[in-house]
Formats: sequence, C-alpha cells, structure tokens
Amino acid sequence: MKFVGDYHTHTLASDGTGFVRDNLRYAEKRGLEEVAITDHSFTCFLCHMTRWKFNLQEKAIKKYLDSTKSSLKVYHGVEGNLLGFDGYLDVPDDVIKRCDVLHLGFHRYLKIHVAFKYAKYVFTNGFGPKRAKEKIKDLNTESYLKAMDTYPIDVLVHLGHRCPVNVDAVLKKAAEKGIYVEFNEKHVDVLEKNIETILDSGVKLIVGSDAHNYKKIGRLDQVAKFIEKYQIPEERIFGLGAKPTFKDKNNG
Ligand SMILES: [Zn+2]
Ligand SMILES: [Zn+2]
Repeated sequence: MKFVGDYHTHTLASDGTGFVRDNLRYAEKRGLEEVAITDHSFTCFLCHMTRWKFNLQEKAIKKYLDSTKSSLKVYHGVEGNLLGFDGYLDVPDDVIKRCDVLHLGFHRYLKIHVAFKYAKYVFTNGFGPKRAKEKIKDLNTESYLKAMDTYPIDVLVHLGHRCPVNVDAVLKKAAEKGIYVEFNEKHVDVLEKNIETILDSGVKLIVGSDAHNYKKIGRLDQVAKFIEKYQIPEERIFGLGAKPTFKDKNNG
C-alpha cells in the first residue's frame, strides 16, 4: 500500500523528537508527497504550542522548501484540544487563520488551571471508569457538534479515543461540514466497532501516523492492515488514493 501523505506529525515544538526540517526531510525520504506538521495545542501541559513557536515553525518550513527546492507539499497546523461541553477549541483565532490544517481531538494532559476549569470533562474522559464516561457521552457529542459548527475544523483526530461520543451524530456533522475523520496509526482500532457506520456515513477518511519520533513519519502499518481487513476502497482514503484539500481559514 503506497501512502502519499501523512497528515499528523509532531516536532520538538511539542513532544516530538525532531526539528521541522527533520520531519520534512524524513517525509521525503519515505517517499511522501505531502506532510502536515501538527503539534499539540496551546493548553497542553508543558509541551504546548505558542505563537512564538508557531512563527518559528512557519519560518523553518519556508527555509527548508526554499533551500532544498523540494516539491514536498507541507501543511502547517495545530492539533487543537476540544475543551469542556460547550465545544471550545484552544487555538486562538489569529493562529487558526494562519493554519493550513486544523485538527480537533481530546487530550487529557492539560495546563493545571485549564484541567480544573473543565474538570468534569477532562478527568472523566481522561481518567474515569468506562461507566462514568458513558454518562457524559451525550455531552461530549454535543461539544464535538458545536465545535464543528463554530471553527473551521479539517480533521477529527483519534475520534473515540478516551472521549466517547455518539458516532452517528458526529459522523453526520463531519460529512455535512466536509471534515475528515482520521485513521490514526496508534488508535485506528477504536474505530473498529463503528466501521460500518463510518463507511455508510460517506465521511472522508484521512491518514495520520501521529509520529512523535520523526523516523515514524509515513509509517502506517496498522492503518494499512485496517484498510485491508475492511476492504475499504483506496480512493476513499485521503493520503492513499486521493489527496485532501483543507479549509480556507480566512473565509467564513
Ligand atoms: Zn492527539
Ligand atoms: Zn498527535
């Protein structure tokens, strides 16, 4: 299976191991035509995005492409956190406008004051027993739906990992809004129980290694197995049979 893109990678700006140039160089070495740099967002604990880092990344991407004359397509973005039950995204508007790609996901290690501000949401989803999570599933779902209505989200990353949602409702909205659902190399198995719903929903699917070690960029073995197992047509998978287009963040 020949992947052409990897739309979810981390660098030293958050908790990855490489500089931007390492990620880009490695993506090319792996034979990718497209790659996204999507570090953890503004409210993550310790290794989080800042405007200063975002500026540096932007410059590093330009410098790499100018100096190597590479034809690699690079998407610069942020892996945003959904916070609480009102669909709040922790990426400032001015940064969203500069993102080529905007991811939305749940993460449990947040700045302490943020974690306590959204305590029920963060601690139940992040650390609670399954029973407790089930009780807030409807609230999680509402939050996802609101976020998708409010922000120019491109990709739902590792959907269903830790933070349970009513998949039908989320997929319906994602399909309506042209939002991709990620096949994440580390967490693709969480989609297994909903695979029929996913395929029937017509939602667009996209691949991401979620590589923190830059040498794992473009390695999508689990994703490949999953695609084979469920015989998903390659043309439905962006980064495999097709290349994605992301939203214009300055319009609408
Ligand atoms: Zn993540
Ligand atoms: Zn990630």
